[in-house]
Amino acid sequence: MSSDIGLLGLGTMGRALALNIAEKGYGIAVFNRTREVTEHFAAEAGELAPRITPCETLEGFVAALARPRAIILMVPAGRPVDEMIAALRPLLAPEDLIIDAGNADFRETRRRSAEAAEKGELFLGMGVSGGEEGARHGPSIMGGGPREAWDRVAPILEAIAAKHEGEPCATWMGEDGAGHFVKTVHNGIEYADMQMIAEVYGVLRDGMGMEATEIADVFDRWNEGPLRSYLIEISGIVARTIDPETHQPLLDVILDTAGQKGTGRWTAIEALMLGAPASAIEAAVGARNLSARLDERKSGEAIFGPAPRGIAETGGLIDELGQALLAGKIACYAQGFGLLADASREFGWNLPLDAIAKVWREGCIIRSAMLDDMAQALAVSGLTNLMFAPSFASRMAENHGGLRAVVARAALSGIAAPALGAALAYFDTMRTARGTANLLQGQRDFFGLHGFARLDRAGTHHGPWADSFQL
Ligand code: NDP
Repeated sequence: MSSDIGLLGLGTMGRALALNIAEKGYGIAVFNRTREVTEHFAAEAGELAPRITPCETLEGFVAALARPRAIILMVPAGRPVDEMIAALRPLLAPEDLIIDAGNADFRETRRRSAEAAEKGELFLGMGVSGGEEGARHGPSIMGGGPREAWDRVAPILEAIAAKHEGEPCATWMGEDGAGHFVKTVHNGIEYADMQMIAEVYGVLRDGMGMEATEIADVFDRWNEGPLRSYLIEISGIVARTIDPETHQPLLDVILDTAGQKGTGRWTAIEALMLGAPASAIEAAVGARNLSARLDERKSGEAIFGPAPRGIAETGGLIDELGQALLAGKIACYAQGFGLLADASREFGWNLPLDAIAKVWREGCIIRSAMLDDMAQALAVSGLTNLMFAPSFASRMAENHGGLRAVVARAALSGIAAPALGAALAYFDTMRTARGTANLLQGQRDFFGLHGFARLDRAGTHHGPWADSFQL
């Protein structure tokens, strides 16, 4: 019997997704570049094996699929995707559908969508979040491409997706690169969320001198309240884990240089290109870059000496840290959703912001208690900034004092808190009607005759220096 769907690329994500699909009752044909991987996967599939058709050749794989065919690509982003599309193209019929489920750059997805449309082919770009565990038991799925293509595979995608109170976390975001863009911003927010938690950990460890297990207790406590989230939960687990080799807290033996695959950077780049404020996300990407410069940091410490770091008056600090995380998180999401809104206008997607918040409620890395409220706030039309929605404005009002105290105390102790600092500066800027860019405009006009607008009358004006301006 023909399989309902095909999956190409049995790596970490592909294997998990294929098992998830089979578990939900669908027949799935699988193919992998390295044949032994396919054989091994089929042999290990256990009770799901009858629903899995392992294929040795691409031709056999395509032939194993029910028509019109749907094929999920789960290979590394970039050239492998183009290579697999090129290899599949001659084997497919016009109504067949290719779905790129890797972490593609949305611009590449736009390009591939345009190429597919030109050739009369169907192509979806689909962001999948939740890592291996999510892919296996319920990821968050963000689709982009022709609506009719999405509708065709939606029953399978909704069946395998995470559920929030029965509602599947799988949504069509818009045309071409919309799904991959939403996934990219998800990852940017993830970077900022992780970084802010790491900065708070720095204050707990270096500012307050707390041991890893004590810090785990703080995270666990926070996970019972408004900060409840997957990232706080796993931070607690990581902080509590003991290294089986040294019997010390594992956290104390992990090298402090962070890796990155690029989606956080893409978010920052796109935000800069669109002129959308995303300073907390940019700070988080920058912090990872800095973390990688271990030798340089060691040299810096040798030259300047270590920062004092210890905080003398720590009364109330843990509560302030919790408030800082809450306010910082809201500011960061305000930037993320603002970026999505700007991109939606730029690329003509009509992104459903409330549905995006809903799709992130389960299955993905940034899932948290707060996303439900965000979905409600974003459903109200005319909202220009998440921080201004009544339910979040009140939270910002209650918690920005804690954020301010933490950023100030960290700065005075020499503890770097770039993402929290960026979030605070964003909040302060967005509540300041009269800023300081008037001086920038004066400077620009002085050296480049760029002109400025005036508070007291319309039009473009120059300072008196314009009379003596010489090129
Ligand atoms: P893996 O490295 O585990 O697996 C990659 C798979 O792609 C393997 O099956 C490999 O086959 C195949 N492959 C590699 N290069 C080619 C090629 N040139 N042509 C054909 N097949 C190729 O990757 P992941 O499963 O982790 O990731 C897959 C995609 O999913 C990536 O885009 C990734 O960014 C994204 N993603 C990953 C997440 C994660 O947590 N890991 C989370 C969300 C998205 P072979 O066995 O022959 O090497």
